[in-house]
Amino acid sequence: MAINLLDYDSKGLVEFCTEIGEKPFRARQLLRWIHQAGKTDFADMSDLAKSLREKLATKAIIELPAIISDYEAADGTRKWLLSVGSGNGIETVFIPETTRGTLCISSQVGCALACAFCSTGMQGFNRNLTVAEIIGQLWIANNALEVSEGDNRGIRAHKAVTNVVMMGMGEPLANFENVVTALELMLDDYAYGLSRRRVTVSTSGLVPAIDRLRERCPVALAVSLHAPNDALRDQLVPINKKYPIKELLAACQRYLPDAPRDFITFEYVMLDGVNDSIEHAKELAKLTKDTPCKFNLIPFNTFSGISFKRSKSESIRIFRDVLMQAGYVVTVRKTRGDDIAAACGQLAGQVKDKTRRTAPTVRICQ
Ligand code: SAH
Ligand code: SF4
Repeated sequence: MAINLLDYDSKGLVEFCTEIGEKPFRARQLLRWIHQAGKTDFADMSDLAKSLREKLATKAIIELPAIISDYEAADGTRKWLLSVGSGNGIETVFIPETTRGTLCISSQVGCALACAFCSTGMQGFNRNLTVAEIIGQLWIANNALEVSEGDNRGIRAHKAVTNVVMMGMGEPLANFENVVTALELMLDDYAYGLSRRRVTVSTSGLVPAIDRLRERCPVALAVSLHAPNDALRDQLVPINKKYPIKELLAACQRYLPDAPRDFITFEYVMLDGVNDSIEHAKELAKLTKDTPCKFNLIPFNTFSGISFKRSKSESIRIFRDVLMQAGYVVTVRKTRGDDIAAACGQLAGQVKDKTRRTAPTVRICQ
């Protein structure tokens, strides 16, 4: 199988260049051509000698996941369904806002962690995405957004995607090495040049991997808490049986000194009658009082075959107020891209049914 240069970060490209007898600085040129200029054909890389371009073409490829569909919602939310082979699809969602543009990226096909309210978890685990498939989502979004903005200058200014959140399909920390390599590319000034504060990894709480992320690539961290005690969290987020709340909060506290932000974001899906009472809010406020954090309440998005219901707006408001009165910063996640089914919710991930009219949905973030 040909080497796909999209699988390599700067270090990997330096090794590749050395292996083919080229100088290490060629890696930097390749990074720029691939990720900033958005080129996939070596022939277009005009500051490389023709002989080198020809040599590269015999040794490597630059291959992206194929775009199966591209939807745009009335509110500007855009969603790509990408093929990753064997009838599997992944989704990437772009959420434009006045001051930023956030891209929500998938890390796995399916997920093994089986959270009770998550469609991806219900599908089970299929496979990890490669680095090329993860960073390819950013490449595709950047390219498409700039073209649609009429910016054809070649070298991109990264105006479109300003923030990345690893909140699509899958558990990013369960695909650790590939996700870290993709994160390195997101942060690399010769590739996407995003700041650490603008790249967020969301995890359901893989404690040892949170520590490894701190050591290897400390970006902003969001933790899917969803319950204020172990008894309830065991049911909603089964990985809690292995890494209970106390250990998870200790990992969050260890993370903070190295984190680019001075808080952890706790995500909390609002499930009617399950985790959304005033008592739950008070218990939560007490639980996290020693962990600098913000809360992001996510109204549950339903999908077929699930019995959970979204909390009533009034319950969400009261829950938020209890946390705010306890001194926390709380946001309630807006539902975006409703008309293209790109709101937080389920992710279908299959591309076999080509007749489907409505797009499969992806869990997104902001
Ligand atoms: N696996 C990681 C990241 C992907 S999920 C994690 O669990 O954190 C991104 C967020 O969407 C998580 O907080 C997740 O719990 C939440 N989520 C999953 N299913 C949802 C649904 N049906 N409605 C609303 N949020 C959901
Ligand atoms: Fe996996 Fe996250 Fe879904 Fe849980 S919520 S099953 S960890 S993708």
